[in-house]
Amino acid sequence: MSGNSLANLALAVLVVLPAVFPETAIGVAAPASRALSYALDVTFIPEKSSLEGTARIMLSDVPTACDTLDLYLHGELQFTGASCGGVELDGSQDLVFYGSDYSSVARRLRLVVAGADLSRGLDIAWRGPMHPSTARALSNYMRIDADGVFLRSYGYSVWFPLLLADGQESYPVDFDPVVLRTPSDMKPVFTGTRLDEHLDEDQRVTTWRAKGMDIFSAQCTARPYREIVAGPLHIYHLPDPESAEAADHVLDLVRRLLDFYAENYRHGVAVGELHVAQLCRFGNISSGNMVGLADDSWAGFEPGSYSGLTLAHELVHPFVRVPVPESSPLYALFVEGFPSYCHLPALASFLGDGWYNEIMDGIASGYAQKRATGKDRRGRTLPPATPFLEMTPKDIGTYKDWYLFPDRLRLYFDDLRRRLGDEEFLDLVGEIVNQDTLDPAGLRRIVVRHLPEFGAMHDRWLATNDFDAGMGRQ
Ligand SMILES: [Zn+2]
Repeated sequence: MSGNSLANLALAVLVVLPAVFPETAIGVAAPASRALSYALDVTFIPEKSSLEGTARIMLSDVPTACDTLDLYLHGELQFTGASCGGVELDGSQDLVFYGSDYSSVARRLRLVVAGADLSRGLDIAWRGPMHPSTARALSNYMRIDADGVFLRSYGYSVWFPLLLADGQESYPVDFDPVVLRTPSDMKPVFTGTRLDEHLDEDQRVTTWRAKGMDIFSAQCTARPYREIVAGPLHIYHLPDPESAEAADHVLDLVRRLLDFYAENYRHGVAVGELHVAQLCRFGNISSGNMVGLADDSWAGFEPGSYSGLTLAHELVHPFVRVPVPESSPLYALFVEGFPSYCHLPALASFLGDGWYNEIMDGIASGYAQKRATGKDRRGRTLPPATPFLEMTPKDIGTYKDWYLFPDRLRLYFDDLRRRLGDEEFLDLVGEIVNQDTLDPAGLRRIVVRHLPEFGAMHDRWLATNDFDAGMGRQ
């Protein structure tokens, strides 16, 4: 593929296009239809940089009285078949601009569905190569090649058919099941739970399930992995001795974190399956229950590194979540708020308060700068601040990992920890996260019982956007 421009590539694909679906007249397009579930069966052929897949897609909002329905794939891939309830469907496919794929091009299948009973679902087949990006940044590492399979999903690499047009908001669906076939010397990792793995001659066949997972998170990687299984934890590393040794360090950190969380935070938590995989360059990601660490982060893995922080954050989620309804003003706090901070005291217990204070000082100055400029460090304009107790479930996606959760809220918890000292701070968090349920008044009552003079400050941190002298670490 080297030296082949995207334009040449697009042309090459266009030429072979009409063989599969003839051009057809286009009538009324379906209004935003959504997928309810996917059953996927995908064979990866790394030595040919390609895949072949079939999908049964059930729709959640079955459109009535529409003539066509659009499906999208990475631009190099081709739709090779489509049917509904056993009846073949006609359609036409073309290439369209699609910023939500690493090639910026998507194959769009405009399927003729007039008269089809869409409640029976769609059966779609597709195949083709996924070569490295020639259109976007180096960090778009997605591809299938001799090194393995490196795919994300909507937003990056559309490896299975989506009903999402470019730029539309992603949403959760059930992936049930996802069958992944690779050469036997490779091992795939998908987001979700692995139900089965077996060898079928020279193929490795694994079966996965992920319920209610955002399409955006449907990450899939395959490499010649060795796997370490420790309870719910699966660690995937390359076979060389350095990678294997780093895997032991990863495992060691995870064990210590889980011990810390179980002792100090919510009791009796069942940790779901977690997959930690050594990924290629730029592959530091966290999606669903899969954490990827790039090769250069994996080698010489350090608990205090960005990778260690990511791992610690992903693991803490179930240990600091009090079950509250989505309508509760505390919902966003328990889903992403407590998890955005509560891994830091755990890491501090291994790495020391010097490490912790350096991290928190950086967060404090970063937050002050964001407030002063309205922009983040990369110059992106921030969304307007919202008090935590007014956040809706939708706001979680707006702010998480970017603004308010990773700075303002961490500073609130840090304020509490500095006033109480580490030990009593952990008592306080332990008491909060072991409640059966909680409302804002209940949360305030517990905080004030530990720190009687803190009531007004608690309100300013959580119920307002105020930030001035006495708050944080100025
Ligand atoms: Zn999180």
